[in-house]
Amino acid sequence: MLGIYSFQKFSTLDFPGRLCAIVWFSGCNMRCSYCYNKDVVFGKKQIEEEEFLEFLKKRVGLLDGVTFTGGCPTMYPNLINFAKKIKEMGFEIKLDTNGINFEVIKDLVEKKLIDYIALDFKAPKEKFYEITKNRHYEKFEKTLEYLINSDIEFEVRTTVHTDLLNEEDINKIIDVLIKKDYKGIYYIQNFFETDKETIGNLPSQKRKLNISKINKLIPMEFRNF
Ligand code: SF4
Repeated sequence: MLGIYSFQKFSTLDFPGRLCAIVWFSGCNMRCSYCYNKDVVFGKKQIEEEEFLEFLKKRVGLLDGVTFTGGCPTMYPNLINFAKKIKEMGFEIKLDTNGINFEVIKDLVEKKLIDYIALDFKAPKEKFYEITKNRHYEKFEKTLEYLINSDIEFEVRTTVHTDLLNEEDINKIIDVLIKKDYKGIYYIQNFFETDKETIGNLPSQKRKLNISKINKLIPMEFRNF
C-alpha cells in the first residue's frame, strides 16, 4: 500500500527560502538507473498521516513549509486531502515530481494546494525510456507546458550521471526549454556519489559533465559540481 514512507523534521535546503519538513512517499512510476532511493521506490506505507500531522501541529510558527518527495508523491491516492490539511495549518507545500501524473499536478495547482514545484527533466525524448524505464515522455512534456503557462513558482532540473547523459543530451534539453519558452533557472545536478546501491547498480561516474560544452543560452545553475 502506498503512503508516507518516512519524514524528516527539519531542512534548510529542500524548499527554496523556507524552513521545511520533508515527507517521503513510497512508490514510483519510474525506475531511474541512478536512483539511490530504492527503499522508498519499492517500499510501502510505514507512517500514518495522523502521525505526521500531529508532529506538524507542534511546528506551527517554527517551520514555513513541507516538501513532498519520494518516490513519486503524486501516486499517493489521498494526496489532495493530505495537502489540504497541511495548507489549513498555514504551511506552504513544495512538490518534487517527475511530471508524469499530469492530472494530479494540475489538480494540486488549480486547488492552490502547492506553492513551489521542482520538476525533473530526466532526459531528452530519445533517452527517456532508457533512463527512466517509463515510456510516457509526452506526459512529462504536457506537465512542463502546463507549468510554463501557469503562475506557479517552479524550477526545472536534471540529474546527470555521465554514463547515462552527456553534454549533447543536456543541450537537447536546453533546446526544448527554449522552444517552450521556459523563463526560470535550469538546474543541472551532478550525480551525488554515495555508498548506497542504485536501482541500476551504476558504478561511479568515470568523468564529470564538461560544463564548457553546455550551451548557456538560458539562465542555469550547476549543483554539486
Ligand atoms: S530518481 Fe527516478 S526512480 Fe528514483 S524516485 Fe525519482 S523518479 Fe523515482
